[in-house]
Amino acid sequence: MPGQVFRGLTLTAMATALAAAVAAQAPAAYDLVVRGGRVLDGAGNPWAVADVAVRQDAIVAIGPGLEGKGQREIDARGLVVSPGFIDTHTHARRGIFEVPTADNYVRQGVTTIFEGPDGGSPLPLKPFLDKIAALGIAPNWGMFVGQGSVREAVLGRANRKATADEIARMKQLVREGMLDGAFGLSTGLFYVPGIFTPSDEVIALAAVAGGMGGLHVSHMRNEAAGVLDSVRETIAVGEQGRMPTQITHHKIIGTPNWGRSAETLQLVAEARARGVDVTIDQYPYTASSTGINALLPPWALEGSQADVVARLRDAPQRARIKKAVIESLMYDRGGGDPKNVQIAACGWDPSLAGKNLAEITRARGAGPTLDEAAETVMWIVERGGASAIFHAIDEADLERILKDPVTMIASDGEVPVFGRASPHPRSYGTFVRVLGRYVRERRVIPLAEAVRKMTSFPAQRTGLLDRGVLRPGMKADIAIWDAATIADKATFEQPHQYAVGVQTVIVNGQVVYENGAMTPARPGRVLFGPAHRPAR
Ligand SMILES: [Zn+2]
Repeated sequence: MPGQVFRGLTLTAMATALAAAVAAQAPAAYDLVVRGGRVLDGAGNPWAVADVAVRQDAIVAIGPGLEGKGQREIDARGLVVSPGFIDTHTHARRGIFEVPTADNYVRQGVTTIFEGPDGGSPLPLKPFLDKIAALGIAPNWGMFVGQGSVREAVLGRANRKATADEIARMKQLVREGMLDGAFGLSTGLFYVPGIFTPSDEVIALAAVAGGMGGLHVSHMRNEAAGVLDSVRETIAVGEQGRMPTQITHHKIIGTPNWGRSAETLQLVAEARARGVDVTIDQYPYTASSTGINALLPPWALEGSQADVVARLRDAPQRARIKKAVIESLMYDRGGGDPKNVQIAACGWDPSLAGKNLAEITRARGAGPTLDEAAETVMWIVERGGASAIFHAIDEADLERILKDPVTMIASDGEVPVFGRASPHPRSYGTFVRVLGRYVRERRVIPLAEAVRKMTSFPAQRTGLLDRGVLRPGMKADIAIWDAATIADKATFEQPHQYAVGVQTVIVNGQVVYENGAMTPARPGRVLFGPAHRPAR
């Protein structure tokens, strides 16, 4: 009866209204649908326009014009939809208990962070992971067990070889770390006590983690004049330990060494050609950051802070230390000028944060010579030390390392309390700086390749096979961002500035960040390493 009117409505119109009413009451097909974005799947493929549908914590459908509504619909037209970024090297336990949402990372699109790098981790891991789980955090969290922490637990900070019995006890601690959920063993052979560890001991411990499916990640013994030997040592751990090995935050420090990345990358390529599973990670800055003690020679750092201070108060030893500090300032991470060393945070005098060694030396009433700057360094160390930023890396090395397909992105950052101290900007900017400066502005690598280095590559390396790629069945860790505007804002002068250009970040299917603000959601999970996978 077309055309018949019933209380002012045609039957056709009534049928349409009825259908709409039914549709409005029908359960949504999905919890969340991201509509019409440029989907960069993380595998390195160019983007394709598609919708991404999520149910609970997982991606359930991807395709153009997906039918079925989401409880929540996000318009991503014109924006990139990628897997959330995975950061395999962070010091996030600095700050996570104060900022459990890890805003600095999430606002860049990071959805998974790994801790326990550079040979340093809590021991045992299990109680610490329980604390993280109880805390409730925004991103996912994984750990490495630290070789330095293991050695310190057994030998203290002693500068000697381990006995057979001590090695057996250290192996047991590594095994326990893996059983607690570690993804592998980290080493920090530049730091005390890693610095006192012979290669064969490192290999013996790493092989325990390797035998349980873990990865070895190394802050190498030397990233300056000794960088080639250190790369060889990192390769040897993988080759002799028969396990995957990774050079972390690869860089070339000190002006006389600039350009050597050509040789280090060649060593890595040769090792891979003969079947050694070696890879690299990197942050995109020409300055590093660590304790100012890094300017002192290793022998001066043995034992406790009191031992270090005692050496500095003994005139002949102080003279030897000073000579080595001057050399570090000149040829190593001092970058040849006291201005290149900037204090990041200082517990005993927070006002030093942000000041450089030349300024502090002048404030102490001396000229900013290398000699006087060395005195300032020792003065700081005697009072309890400080963390510092060292400008001594060349842009050409950075870009050469970034271009290598075996290099992934990792921040080496922490979770800063917004506004406190003067941390390295890498905590706020690593991932978005690669996408803004090195992809869009300098065109060093293509966009899809950069995203691969932040998603599927770190996921594959750590064995997170349900993350790092956008595919049905994968966990719904998703970042939605504007490739035309994504950028870092944090600088060495003004580090407390969040990334821009990221619209929405989703962790395990829940929105943790959107339109410039963190949400209250804390869906991040503790992730467990290979010993917890069913196949093993
Ligand atoms: Zn490191």
